[in-house]
Formats: sequence, structure tokens, C-alpha cells
Amino acid sequence: MWDFSTEPDFQERLDWASTFVREECESVDVLFPGGGAPYDVQDRAARAFVEPMREEVKAHGLWACHLGPELGGPGYGQVRLGLLNEILGRSHWAPTIFGTAAPDTGNAEILAMFGTEEQKARYLQPLLDGDIVSAFSMTEPQAGADPKEFVCAARRDGDEWVIDGEKWFTSNARYAEFLIVMAVTDPDAAPHARMSMFVVPRHTTGVEIVRNVATFVESADDDGTHAYVRYTDVRVPLDHMLGGPGEGFKVAQARLGGGRIHHAMRTVGRCARILDMMAERALSRRTQGTALSDKQSVQQALAESSIELAQLRLLVLHTAWVIDTQPPGAARNGIAMCKVQMSRVQHDILQRAVHLHGSLGTTIEMPLAQWWSQTPHLALVDGPTEVHRTTVAKGLLGQYSPAPGLFPTEHVPTRLAAAREKYADRLAAL
Ligand SMILES: Cc1cc2nc3c(=O)[nH]c(=O)nc-3n(C[C@H](O)[C@H](O)[C@H](O)COP(=O)(O)OP(=O)(O)OC[C@H]3O[C@@H](n4cnc5c(N)ncnc54)[C@H](O)[C@@H]3O)c2cc1C
Repeated sequence: MWDFSTEPDFQERLDWASTFVREECESVDVLFPGGGAPYDVQDRAARAFVEPMREEVKAHGLWACHLGPELGGPGYGQVRLGLLNEILGRSHWAPTIFGTAAPDTGNAEILAMFGTEEQKARYLQPLLDGDIVSAFSMTEPQAGADPKEFVCAARRDGDEWVIDGEKWFTSNARYAEFLIVMAVTDPDAAPHARMSMFVVPRHTTGVEIVRNVATFVESADDDGTHAYVRYTDVRVPLDHMLGGPGEGFKVAQARLGGGRIHHAMRTVGRCARILDMMAERALSRRTQGTALSDKQSVQQALAESSIELAQLRLLVLHTAWVIDTQPPGAARNGIAMCKVQMSRVQHDILQRAVHLHGSLGTTIEMPLAQWWSQTPHLALVDGPTEVHRTTVAKGLLGQYSPAPGLFPTEHVPTRLAAAREKYADRLAAL
């Protein structure tokens, strides 16, 4: 049964969220700008402003919708989460106001699955309540896309693990209460069994932020949110390992799949907002006696953008449906496809939108410039496009076998000979 409808009661919640995000969250975006602003729990002014908004979200049953009921969320599943996230993707602050911001969502899942009761009380509950934020410390300065190249290591010393090494691009480490760190615990094991995952309180002795690296959109004036972190003789108790020794890859996968599709859901919303802006501009701006919307080239740009967005949206929602309805792992290919496609679609739609807005589109007076400078992130965060294309290709090839003979199975003379042999009697009777 294929059905593209939304249950009326959930649609009502989505309608409320849509109005709330446009009227309230998008205002917070301009009042409290800055890439790291939603993660800075010390910013009392911003916190005081958004706290009542969070209460409203909770009252509407839309707080932390990525979580199941056992963790205090409504457990709507991925399709309904996708429909909500595409609304939240319009706004920088909305995921924080709705309790679904990355990387805290994935870190919460890891703690829920692998943390001790004490860690859940100390970190998970305040994280779910939105009182603290966390960071995920995996990428290293010398190696990002291939974790098999990682060297940051943890060794056991009595009843402690001791972590030494460096990590790169640990987003929000400066605001985090704890970091989830991947470290080599058995360098001689098979590649996927070398690493383990640890929860490390941010203020543990030996955790040092070498510098907060700024991306294009952030100013170099200590505004960066992606930390270069050094771990020197960092000691944590044995129970701070999440999962078993050598299970770092397994634990990472538990969070990365969800993280990737959630980014894709939000990208759909961002692209829809950009398309809204394009349509308004096309209808508002006149040149050579007509509105831009009357020019065929502008219509082509709008149509292409609309088609690409519709394709991405269907891919994302179908993948969400696979996650909801099929066994773990079934959505692996779909998630990789979403990961590849979201950066391409946002890039192409944004390029047309900036162009359509002319000189204004290139300025900081429009949000387009900020989104434009963030677009390369989508192709890198949680692994570069090429790696996900490889996943898609391997998934595809896994469903096929080499041709049984000298020629491909679609070779016409070979098929004709086989058909003649199969139907020899009927052909003879003609
Ligand atoms: C905004 C942002 C936030 C991030 N946040 C975090 C975070 O919180 N925690 C964290 O641990 N990491 C984080 N990262 C890092 C991210 O995971 C890495 O950027 C990513 O895994 C790629 O690693 P790298 O940057 O070292 O690139 P590299 O590994 O150096 O790769 C560079 C390029 O080489 C090519 N390449 C790499 N591998 C292959 C391959 N197998 N086949 C073909 N070509 C290939 C690709 O073109 C790739 O883009 C973040 C990155 C960004 C941009």
C-alpha cells in the first residue's frame, strides 16, 4: 500500500509548527545570529528568550521528536520526524527550540544505548531537557574521511582509561558539558575493531581546546565553533567506555545514520525556504517591461529548482519510511543517497536563488549568502560525498552477478538464440 497522506491530527501539529517556526523561530534567527548561538547555554539573554518558546513546543507535543517514549519523546518515527524536520530546517534556531539539534540528538542516542545509569542521570537527562550541550570528537587533524587512519589512543591503566591524541572539528566543544571521543584501544586488531568510544567530561584535566576554528561564515575573532582539541593524559574511569572494547565503529554507526538523514530532512526545509524566496523575487522584480516571472529563463530556473526539491523530498521521506518499516541496515543505501543528494540540491537551488536576487543576493542583507557559505559543509559533515557514493555503488553491485557467459545477458543474438530454442515447437507450428 502506497500512501502519501498525513494523519489529520499530526497535520494539525505540523501546521502549528509551520506558523510557529516562521513567526517565532525565524525572528530568533535575526535577533540572535551566529553559528554557535543556539549551543551557547551561557548566553543568558538568548536562553531567557527561547525558554518560553520551548515550553510552547512541549505543550504541543513536539519536543525532542527524534526520541522514543522511553526517553521522554513522543516516538513519532522517522517519517513524521521528517515532516517536522523539514519545517524546522527553515530556521537556524528551530532545532534547538524543538530539542532536536545535532550533534546532541546522536550523542543522546549513544548515551541511552550504552551509558551507565549514573551517566544517564548526569548527562543524558540534562541533554534531553536542553540544559546542556555535547560534542562528538571523532575526526583527527591528519585523517577525517577514513577512521582507520586515526591515531588518538586510549590505554588502560588500573581502573582508568588514559586518552592521548588530537581531534579536529569537534563542533561545539567550547559549549559542551561532555565530549564523546573515539580512540584506538587495540592498534593490532582488525581495522573495524581497533577503536572504542568514551564519554569524557569537558573539564577533565588534560582536555585542551587548541583553538576554535572558524568556517567561512564565522569571524576569525574567536567566533569559531569547531574545536581543534588536544587530549593529554586524560583519565576517565573504566565505565566511561561506551559499548565494549573495539566497538567504537559500531557505536559511531548507531548515531551517524540518524544524523545524516536528519540533516537531509532539514535541508529539504532550507531549500523550500529558498524556493519561496525565488518565487517572491520573480513576481516582484520587473525588467524590460515585464516581471522576472514572465521570462522563460526564470521560469526554467524555478521549475528545475522545484523538481529537484520534490525529488530530494521523496527520497528523504522514502528512506525515513524504510527506517520505520524495515530491519536495521535496510536504509543504509537510502541514507547514503540522501547524503549525496542534499548537498547537490542545496547548491544548485541556492546558486539560482543568489543569481535571481542579483547584487542583493550576494550581500549579507539576505540570508542567502550565509547559506551559500555553509553549503560545502553538507558535502563533508558525517563523511564526504565520495564515500557515500561508494556505499551506494557497493549496495547496487551487491544485487548483481557477473554475466554467466562471454556476452552480457542483454546481448540480442544470444537472447534470440535462447528464445528460438525455448519456443522451437511453437515457432515450427507457425
Ligand atoms: C561543518 C562541519 C562540522 C563538523 N563537525 C564534526 C564534529 O562535530 N565531529 C567530528 O568528529 N567531525 C566533524 N566534522 C568533520 C567531518 O566529519 C569531516 O570533515 C569529514 O569526515 C571529512 O574529513 P576531512 O575533513 O578530514 O577530509 P579528508 O578526509 O581530508 O577528505 C578530503 C576530500 O578527499 C576526498 N576523499 C576522501 N576520502 C575519499 C574516498 N574514499 N574516495 C574518494 N575521495 C575521497 C573527498 O573529496 C574529500 O572531501 C565536521 C565537518 C564540517 C564541515
